[in-house]
Amino acid sequence: MMDEDSVLHDAACHCGAVQFRVRLSDGLNSARRCDCSLCRMRGAVAVSARVGDIVFVQGEENLSLYQFNTKVARHYFCKTCGVYTHHQRRSDPGQFGVNVACIAGMSPFDFPEVLVMNGVVHPSDADGADRLAGVLRFSKL
Ligand SMILES: [Zn+2]
Repeated sequence: MMDEDSVLHDAACHCGAVQFRVRLSDGLNSARRCDCSLCRMRGAVAVSARVGDIVFVQGEENLSLYQFNTKVARHYFCKTCGVYTHHQRRSDPGQFGVNVACIAGMSPFDFPEVLVMNGVVHPSDADGADRLAGVLRFSKL
């Protein structure tokens, strides 16, 4: 398998107004779903990137920011086509989650099974710091 850490992937929203390049911190191994109130509607599979490892080629100003609940996580989507591109995580503000479907050559249907994070009981709200408490189950597509 190639060294994903060295690869800059091309990525874009559906309409193409927002275009960026992203280096993934753990390739496709970081693919996750989440069952929080937002993610269960948005339905995306996210992969991880370090903050700073997204470079916008165009259209950063065409992103809208959505925040809810504790307003710590920063969820971005294209103003024109509405597609979620990435978010800055509440569980680790040094990380972005990136919509795998926005990345050229990747698809959420590439994953036979995806970890589902327990976003209803967020790791930051759980007693103790058991990060694994956030893992709810595997989901088949
Ligand atoms: Zn768009």
